[in-house]
Amino acid sequence: MTNGWQTIIGLEIHAQLSTESKIFCGCSTRFGDEPNANTCPVCLGLPGALPVLNRRVIDLGARAALSLGLHINNHSIFSRKNYFYPDLPKGYQISQYDKPFSANGELEIMTAERDEAGHPVEWRPKKISITRLHLEEDAGKNVHEGLPDVDRYSYIDLNRAGTPLAEIVTEPDFRSSWEAYDYVNHVRRALQWVGASEADMEKGNLRCEANVSVRRIGDEKFGTKVELKNLNSVRFMQRAIEFEISRQIGVLESGGRLQQETRLWDERAAETRVMRSKEEAHDYRYFPEPDLPPLIVSDEFIERVRSEMPELPEARRRRFMEQYGLSFTDASQLTSERSLADYYEKAVEASGNPRTTSNWIRSELLRELEAAGLSAEASPVAAQELGALVRLIDEGKISGKQAKDVLVEMFKTGKSAQTIIEEQGLVQVSDTAEIDQLIDGVIADNPDQLAKYRGGKEALFGFFVGQVIKASKGKANPKVVNERLRAKLQG
Ligand SMILES: [Zn+2]
Repeated sequence: MTNGWQTIIGLEIHAQLSTESKIFCGCSTRFGDEPNANTCPVCLGLPGALPVLNRRVIDLGARAALSLGLHINNHSIFSRKNYFYPDLPKGYQISQYDKPFSANGELEIMTAERDEAGHPVEWRPKKISITRLHLEEDAGKNVHEGLPDVDRYSYIDLNRAGTPLAEIVTEPDFRSSWEAYDYVNHVRRALQWVGASEADMEKGNLRCEANVSVRRIGDEKFGTKVELKNLNSVRFMQRAIEFEISRQIGVLESGGRLQQETRLWDERAAETRVMRSKEEAHDYRYFPEPDLPPLIVSDEFIERVRSEMPELPEARRRRFMEQYGLSFTDASQLTSERSLADYYEKAVEASGNPRTTSNWIRSELLRELEAAGLSAEASPVAAQELGALVRLIDEGKISGKQAKDVLVEMFKTGKSAQTIIEEQGLVQVSDTAEIDQLIDGVIADNPDQLAKYRGGKEALFGFFVGQVIKASKGKANPKVVNERLRAKLQG
């Protein structure tokens, strides 16, 4: 349906910086407190109250900017963005306009289109230009639910007013909804990784808006753009963009015209709806904030922040592939969170086997963690212990099958693999003399099968393996059983 059309998407992300206090006053930023508990004359916008910039905002803003490859300006200024809304007591928001905190970033992300089942088709790198990252304060919240007389009153909670935000704006560089999806996930992970933001869309500390337009392939001019809001998860955003692309192409192909407007995503109806048209668009009458001096950031400061940053996720993924011989998919999964990447490296130190350790973490451990709702950080099985388990398998002390049960037990009890193995009397028999004896017994007990096997029915090999393992009560090393059995069955 999109044949002959090109999609143009630009994104704006608002990320709440993880400070304990607000951007221009000392009030707490804690989530979920009693409404209006965390307010003072500054964030209530009372006359005469003066803002003072929170230093921590600059630290975290710098981390955020550097994690996304942006240039930090030595000189930036705060401006007033004027508009009226009940949750904005001052009548303006302190933001940044023509001289933002940072600008001109080029970020390489990995992206892939998805097939009908939602699986990535082919991962490829793509460069995204980030126009700017600027600092600003959040507004409060109007509350229309869960309080008495909400049919007659609106309530205002100003706990969020003055919470620090980083607004991150891209060029219109995305050509599909999946590129936008992969970018937002990349930004989320980067901000969490460097500790700049929790970047949790469900808690509302990462919010996202998309500008979407379409044009016929070959056209120079951009089409009319529509702004999408109310995108409460990355998946919703992807669906909203996809819907909007089809809608716009549909209008144009049937000879209609598009309006420049803001539309809201309605997840239940799975469609976008008009919120306001361009005629209602604001003129914000920006001007420099007279109560705050220009923000001067020295090169030394920027370099110090850079030197304190952890190895970034993309760099770490590439290193995992080179150093440990992992595939792109495996390395990507292990670097999806910093604590998981740390866990993996500690486990490899103990196991000495990067690939097997990766497999055990990605399949067995993550399944247990997911079921318990825990992150790698909080795993009851310490990284060294998981590494030790992998080593026991490699040394032939226990079988992979036994190890799966041992891991579940380790997860439940917090005991070491060695302790559980001793307690349960788990040993893998690799002794060839002992295994030969079992094999001889099985062969003697199954003369018919032996004759058939020797007569060419090779599928019976699995039957003999099974019988020997069973005779050993599951303790025989399958590799040794295979070798010895093959030799003996030849006769
Ligand atoms: Zn305050």
